[in-house]
Amino acid sequence: MPAVARLTGPSRDNVIALIGQLAHAGTNDPDTGARLGLTAAEVAALREENGIEAGEQRWRGREGGTCAQVPADLDLFGRTFDWATVPAHLWSAITLKGPWDFPIVAPHVGDDAEWWTYPAPPDPGRLPPAKTCENRTWNTYVRGPLLIHAGKGWDRAGERDPRVIRMWNAVTPGLVFRREAWTWAGHVTGVARLVDCHLSTPGCCPPWGAYGVGSDVVHHLILDDVRALPTPVPATGRQQLWRPDAELVETVRAMLPPGGGGPR
Ligand SMILES: [Zn+2]
Repeated sequence: MPAVARLTGPSRDNVIALIGQLAHAGTNDPDTGARLGLTAAEVAALREENGIEAGEQRWRGREGGTCAQVPADLDLFGRTFDWATVPAHLWSAITLKGPWDFPIVAPHVGDDAEWWTYPAPPDPGRLPPAKTCENRTWNTYVRGPLLIHAGKGWDRAGERDPRVIRMWNAVTPGLVFRREAWTWAGHVTGVARLVDCHLSTPGCCPPWGAYGVGSDVVHHLILDDVRALPTPVPATGRQQLWRPDAELVETVRAMLPPGGGGPR
């Protein structure tokens, strides 16, 4: 007899597909069960019957949550977060088309950065609000350390965005804003902690949060504790959230000061 025999036909197929998606996104069996009206044991049985790997408890928070964030000094399990010790397999990465990477990472560049073409690090007191909200059509349950990867793609809408231009002018006074300046495209340039993901509502997460519904649905991925790397690390970008290999994580980790929590 198949697991959870009361499920039959298309509804069974739908539930199995949903379990696969949730597990892939990192949701564990009890939480998947709570969402689908099943027990954790039933979810596990359906997973095993269909060859679906268990989701890890990689996330914290709820779908459709608010802008409330995981406290910046705690990790996924409520322990004091430390970039030096968080295991490599809990890291994720996100690729951004230029120039959208810039307003996330540039405000956090320090004296140790070797890759910026301007003479001095930005004065935080004179910068417009850093971008801490990444707008995506998809939702994620993943939380935790995140590599910020500047992709080789380019978004012309971003090039014309007044917020991006304002940030560029504040960080790189006197330099012309143009695509050729993106010498770090194709590299990981910073890290952040992904602390929340929620469906956009009108006016939430200003000034960087977009709002959209229907086929233009927008989710807000909320970043905290953003740090710029002193040296960019080459990497190949991918769609959605991707899992960096351990070598890339350790290369990045070696550049970070120990500790964590709170913006730098
Ligand atoms: Zn929001």
